[in-house]
Amino acid sequence: MSGARTVLIVGGGVIGLCAAWYALQKGHRVTLLERGGPDHDSCSLGNAGMIVPSHFVPLAAPGMVGLGLRMMLHPESPFWIRPRLDRDLLSWGWRFLRAANTRHVERAAPVLRDLNLQSRRCYEELAERHGLRFGLVKKGLMMLCRTERVLEEEAALAERARQIGLEAQVLTAAQAAQLEPHIQMEIAGAVYFPQDCHLIPQQFVAELTRRLEQEGASLVWSAEVTGWRTAGRRVEAALVGERAFAADEFVIAGGAWSPTIARGLRVDMPMQAGKGYSLTLTDPPQLPSICSILTEARIAVTPMEGALRFAGTMEITGLDESVHPGRVNGILRSIPRYFPAFSPDHFRGIAVWSGLRPCSPDGLPYVGRFGRYDNLLAATGHAMMGLSLGPITGRLIAQILSGEPPSIPLDLLSPDRYA
Ligand SMILES: Cc1cc2nc3c(=O)[nH]c(=O)nc-3n(C[C@H](O)[C@H](O)[C@H](O)COP(=O)(O)OP(=O)(O)OC[C@H]3O[C@@H](n4cnc5c(N)ncnc54)[C@H](O)[C@@H]3O)c2cc1C
Repeated sequence: MSGARTVLIVGGGVIGLCAAWYALQKGHRVTLLERGGPDHDSCSLGNAGMIVPSHFVPLAAPGMVGLGLRMMLHPESPFWIRPRLDRDLLSWGWRFLRAANTRHVERAAPVLRDLNLQSRRCYEELAERHGLRFGLVKKGLMMLCRTERVLEEEAALAERARQIGLEAQVLTAAQAAQLEPHIQMEIAGAVYFPQDCHLIPQQFVAELTRRLEQEGASLVWSAEVTGWRTAGRRVEAALVGERAFAADEFVIAGGAWSPTIARGLRVDMPMQAGKGYSLTLTDPPQLPSICSILTEARIAVTPMEGALRFAGTMEITGLDESVHPGRVNGILRSIPRYFPAFSPDHFRGIAVWSGLRPCSPDGLPYVGRFGRYDNLLAATGHAMMGLSLGPITGRLIAQILSGEPPSIPLDLLSPDRYA
């Protein structure tokens, strides 16, 4: 390694925390600035907690634009863009459209596969070698399909998964029931991805935060970065009001707020926030042991010890975390169609959590150095996979900081790809 450096990370979600962890492991001195307090909420807490090698197709894929437009017409559908004349949104939409093609999916698939598989391995190491406790369960994921048509589409995807070396099995309804014998399911069949896992994201964040503090990282709470001091090709300091935090290296890991954080640095990292909701039943009528996705409804279902979390929707509505009751209704009304033992009444009085996914136009994260500066890196834009890809992102950032070759080629992830 090329010598210990002082590293300043902006953002205390799963990505910033993982970057801090792996930088610390390499011997760097780490400061993390987080605008919230030690118990702040972020997108990294209420998500579905899935580690997803199965998600090798980026969000920007053929058919997504048509599907999105059809869904926009329905007030309870899982997808919505608030129409508005916003230059950033229009250019993001245009770039999404351009990326949603077969060639992009083919180039992105092996990268997403490797990121997810390496991250899964990192999670195993964090649990087994470093003793972090966050409820890691390695039992796979089922894509539950109500209709034969969607089952056929998922079966085709399973075939593509196998072609790139992932494990995937198409199951009849009876075979799916054997995997989940205690759950009543009304499905045509399922696709099972045995390499997927799940965990309890709020436990992971809390445990990592505690261990970082124990091992000497400086976590600065209530520290909202509002500007930067630069000199030529170097960033000198991040500004928090009147305070300046100097460092050798700076990492922007502010989730959906990353472009706001980077304002003034003259870098172009297009991003839209993709709002989603989750509801967690602490005493569910039935408790599956494997996480699943209700495919047509696009709802993720994750057992978290005795609790059961349901998560869904993707609303492109700016940096607005308010809850849209119609779309929450859409989630509640879809669940009994797959799991008839559940009814909307089970969710009465359950708080709705909302979070903003940081979405790049091509569905790939931004990981790496910016060309404009010698000491500025991005670790953001993970959209629906930030929890899954947290550890590998942290490891890649630490490798770059240490002058080591990254364990995954970073060309497709460059934060300059839209500059
Ligand atoms: C409903 C739902 C379900 C999901 N399910 C999954 C899943 O199963 N698996 C998966 O892999 N992913 C999932 N995701 C996506 C995942 O949650 C995100 O990709 C991930 O949490 C993003 O992490 P982050 O650290 O980049 O951002 P965040 O968690 O949003 O963290 C960013 C941090 O930056 C801080 N910040 C912002 N501005 C400033 C500033 N100016 N100064 C200092 N700090 C600042 C914020 O306070 C925040 O703490 C889901 C998301 C949603 C909404």
